[in-house]
Amino acid sequence: MKKDIKENCAVFGIRSNEDVFDSIYYGLYSLQHRGQESAGIATYTRSLDRINIHKDMGLVPDVFKDVYLQGNSGIGHVRYSTTGESDIENTQPLMINYAKGGFAIAHNGNLVNPQELRSILERRGGVFSTTTDTEIIAQLIAQEHLKTGTFIEGIKSAMNYLRGAYSLVILQDDKIIGVRDPWAIRPLVLGKSGDAYAIASESCAFDALGMTLIRDIKPSEILVIGDKLDSYFGRKERTAHCMFEYVYFARPDSVIDGVSVYEVRKNLGRILAKKAPVKADMVVPIPDSGINVAIGYAQESGIPYGEGLIKNRYLGRTFIMPEQKEREIGVKIKLNPIRSEIEGKSLVVLDDSIVRGTTIKRIIKILREKGAKEVHVRISCPPLRFPCYYGINMQSKEEFVARKKSIEEIRKKIGADSLVYTSLEGLIKAIGLPREKLCLACLTGDYPVREEQMKLEV
Ligand code: SF4
Repeated sequence: MKKDIKENCAVFGIRSNEDVFDSIYYGLYSLQHRGQESAGIATYTRSLDRINIHKDMGLVPDVFKDVYLQGNSGIGHVRYSTTGESDIENTQPLMINYAKGGFAIAHNGNLVNPQELRSILERRGGVFSTTTDTEIIAQLIAQEHLKTGTFIEGIKSAMNYLRGAYSLVILQDDKIIGVRDPWAIRPLVLGKSGDAYAIASESCAFDALGMTLIRDIKPSEILVIGDKLDSYFGRKERTAHCMFEYVYFARPDSVIDGVSVYEVRKNLGRILAKKAPVKADMVVPIPDSGINVAIGYAQESGIPYGEGLIKNRYLGRTFIMPEQKEREIGVKIKLNPIRSEIEGKSLVVLDDSIVRGTTIKRIIKILREKGAKEVHVRISCPPLRFPCYYGINMQSKEEFVARKKSIEEIRKKIGADSLVYTSLEGLIKAIGLPREKLCLACLTGDYPVREEQMKLEV
């Protein structure tokens, strides 16, 4: 359960011989965990040579109540605002028209050089109608298209300027184009069913549609889904897949860069059980983020797994309380311990991460109030100490309790009997990808997109 970290966005695109609106709708539905503020779909109607867009604030089923867009290709987006205001102007997909035509675009990730790019584009005559990175990317592609003569060369050229995380889907006429930044920070996958090809932020969207996951979009790849698949590549950089997708953001039933998110989380639990065994009566997850890790911990330790905390799943995203009230009853409304399960027992409580430590402190308090004898906390992510600039809304570095306090001090602050985090080595082992292919910047401060790369020669 997290209040301090928000998911970013999700993109989806599909081309088929049949109408694609329903596929985009259900694809976005299964990606809703990545963004709940707004949703949008764009489709291309060949007979009219027209791109149709509908988007609004709200969840997928609310935004597309009584809406249908015709077309055999289309893209979609769900948004949590990490840059730009959370308002209707900044919803996606975004449509851009220019001298060589038009396209719709949807984006997941954050640029680290948006101001610089914006002023360059404004100097070249660009006028902006939103405050999003996405419009910067779209205008840059359009301007580079005009300069280079072809759309693909325009994208390639734009990639020379873009710094940071961008997984894109673009609808240009009836073609779908998927683009992944050279660091491949955010996920992007290709799926297939019959004649239809789709691109999505996570493979769980394909499962929902009965599609097969083919592969990940490669770092720096521009994949065009037209009458056939064509692949092009922009500039190269070191690969840096976000470790936090595996730890927290992605759905556990997704496979990212060839690795099952569920298996990573179970591995993290097993590794924690080996690293920090404890005599306890029950392994208790903090739902939902701690569930898979707790299963791994229970399997490795032999301690029974139990649902000691029940989550209220019907609060919705509009659950906002005045601060004082929130402090008093916020956690109790969201999570309720089952007294008969935990009374008199020593518990191992599993969660994915600690930002400020206030939520876990309240959870430990309510577990003790319901009779828990001991509460041992195990955290599957090493201590978070640095902000994320690549599309994850983490608080500024002052918010991270691990910057100011030792682990023993954090244990005392949250009121746990013991507190152990997974080590950096344990995390890398659990993911199973080479360290040099991961972004670990919020743990280490070693950012893959280096500052000197943000200086652009234009
Ligand atoms: S800084 Fe952390 S959350 Fe951000 S991309 Fe890197 S690993 Fe992911």
